[in-house]
Amino acid sequence: MQAHDALYLSGMWRAARRPATADAIEVRNPATEEVIARVPAATAEDVDAAVSAARAALSGWAETPPAERGARIAALRDALAARRDEIAATVTAELGAPLSFSQTVHADLPIAVAGSYATIATEYAFEERVGNSRVWQEPIGVVGAITPWNYPLHQIVAKVAPALAAGCTVVLKPAENTPLVAQLFAEAVDAAGFPAGVFNLVTGYGSVAGEALAGHSGVDLVSFTGSTAVGRRIGATAGAAVKPVALELGGKSANVILPSADLSKAVKVGVANVMANSGQTCSAWTRMLVDADRYEEAVELAAAAVAKYVPGDPADAATRIGPVVSAAQRERVTGYIAEGVREGARLVAGGDQAPEGCERGWYVRPTVFADVTPEMTIAQEEIFGPVLSILKYDDADDAARIANDTVYGLSGAVWAGDEEEAVAFARRLETGQIHVNGGRFNPLAPFGGYKHSGVGRELGTHGLAEYLQTKSLQF
Ligand code: NAD
Repeated sequence: MQAHDALYLSGMWRAARRPATADAIEVRNPATEEVIARVPAATAEDVDAAVSAARAALSGWAETPPAERGARIAALRDALAARRDEIAATVTAELGAPLSFSQTVHADLPIAVAGSYATIATEYAFEERVGNSRVWQEPIGVVGAITPWNYPLHQIVAKVAPALAAGCTVVLKPAENTPLVAQLFAEAVDAAGFPAGVFNLVTGYGSVAGEALAGHSGVDLVSFTGSTAVGRRIGATAGAAVKPVALELGGKSANVILPSADLSKAVKVGVANVMANSGQTCSAWTRMLVDADRYEEAVELAAAAVAKYVPGDPADAATRIGPVVSAAQRERVTGYIAEGVREGARLVAGGDQAPEGCERGWYVRPTVFADVTPEMTIAQEEIFGPVLSILKYDDADDAARIANDTVYGLSGAVWAGDEEEAVAFARRLETGQIHVNGGRFNPLAPFGGYKHSGVGRELGTHGLAEYLQTKSLQF
């Protein structure tokens, strides 16, 4: 798509009020390192204008009947679906995800989530009776949405669609690495015929536009997805202003393979889960837990499975793994790989050198570590790259202890020969989502974290509830 040298405010593309000192954001293709577009870096003044536009539109949109809001969201879903291939190509160009993954996940998933909120807006009970009371669910107001680059359109839709369904208006500040799909999203909103100001887009840097939005007195709720460090800061700002906040943060999820499980399937699916999107998935099962008796077999299976992930050009339909998003991300990931080696983990695949034949582009070798122990850095910290750590456990109690032994709790998996055995084990895990024997992602199921993985839930009716506040009338 053609990049806009403008922000989307009050239903129009407008030039940013860019001071002479501020540079535009250069968007680079991670596979070629080339600049593919430039977008405006919004200032605090621009954010102010966007928040004013959202506030001006709030009462009209909040009073729009939910079925009409749902109809607009259905039109948005249709506008996105009509541009599915362009969405996929855009995400491949700015994120580096393989084209087939961009089609089925980066495009189809957010289209499905937008569709789910068209239905939820129409069917949700915004009013109920409780004894002698009528209880109303009302929109919380102006939402500031701050999103990351790893699932760039999904994370936008997972915030904007429920906010609009609730009757809120929105200012979106997308990640600086992936603003192009955000601009495409704004075009789809425009095509769907929402009233001016209901949705506004400010591209910009986190330290300028993000900070201005997170701390703006005209924003009623900040919904943030990204690093725990920034989330903590946004939570503190919101707390001081007595405002609700929704935070989707990092993860270090455990993939617990119980002794009765189909080992080869569990390892194969586990490796695929970590390698998808070059490991840049907050809910990735980056710690594989295997019992001592089958540990070496699991390590061999994992090494064989990861060998099938040969880094290559993400625009090529046959490529299964592309680069990571940026030079900084590659530094971070290879730094963790070097740290794993330093701390004594056994490198069974990959390493911190660039993959063969990938001199250009921010590629990282798909990496598997064995003999990882729970206190190691690579078992505790979110790496956000194609790196799997395999840990050994003695018995079910030990497995549960290791699985719960990080500050995070976003996702996870349990495998067992008997589903009930897996379900009983799942109860012991301190985490927001658990996939039983490879159960697939459900875009209607609540998604969100325990512990430092976040506050609140996204998707489905639970995701809608984040954008509502409750009023009760007694009779
Ligand atoms: P980040 O938290 O810095 O960026 C996420 C979003 O927040 C971006 O839109 C950014 O511009 C904005 N932001 C940055 N600083 C801000 C501030 N002070 N105030 C308001 N907004 C601000 O994440 P990153 O630097 O892109 O990635 C760093 C690490 O975070 C990754 O390596 C990964 O571990 C983690 N991460 C997690 C997720 C997730 O989905 N949980 C997503 C992306 C990154």
